[in-house]
Amino acid sequence: MEAMGRVAAGELANAFCFIGAGGHHAGRNFFGGYCCFNDVVIALRQARRTGRLRRVAILDTDAHHGDGTRDLVEADPDVLHVCVCGSDYAPPEGTKVDIAAPDPWSLNGSPDEAYLALVRQAFPARAERFRPDLLVWYFGFDTHRGDYGDLGLTLAAYLGIADVMLETAGRVCGGKLLVVLGGGSRTDLATRLIPPIIAKLGGLAHRQPAATG
Ligand SMILES: [Zn+2]
Ligand SMILES: [Zn+2]
Repeated sequence: MEAMGRVAAGELANAFCFIGAGGHHAGRNFFGGYCCFNDVVIALRQARRTGRLRRVAILDTDAHHGDGTRDLVEADPDVLHVCVCGSDYAPPEGTKVDIAAPDPWSLNGSPDEAYLALVRQAFPARAERFRPDLLVWYFGFDTHRGDYGDLGLTLAAYLGIADVMLETAGRVCGGKLLVVLGGGSRTDLATRLIPPIIAKLGGLAHRQPAATG
């Protein structure tokens, strides 16, 4: 809530919310997948109450469908919800969109490139038309190779998505971007993946620590 409020108010350019329990499976009267409360929607409601923002565009790149978020924002015309998951659902003028992630086992090329191409095609143009006050990237690294939602992705895909979100935010809402951590279970991956993303948000080059042992 604080991060969204401060980004919306222009006190911070962007923020990474290191939240250990995802929220996108928490809906109006159900929850699952270790999501008890819907962090993004609660923060949105709070930020609206203080008059800091109204329209938000969410890109959900967790491996799973953001059913709780979809349930809570379904009837909300001021939320664009683009969810990369297991199915395609894209009404022509709709603001609630599902995009089927590429199946890494039937690809010839790199899963990172295929996924990133899909994100580029699915999100920036929609966000531009939608004219949000702020972007949210719901970032699950459960899509990483070897984690529980394995889509064969690696750090390159996440850094690419971070670039897409930064560019899009710069073009449509003065750079206002909130990154919220979703699924992912492996601390070794979290340790390797998250610092370079934060460095990118801060406009810094990140140096990977030298391998030991
Ligand atoms: Zn997930
Ligand atoms: Zn979905």
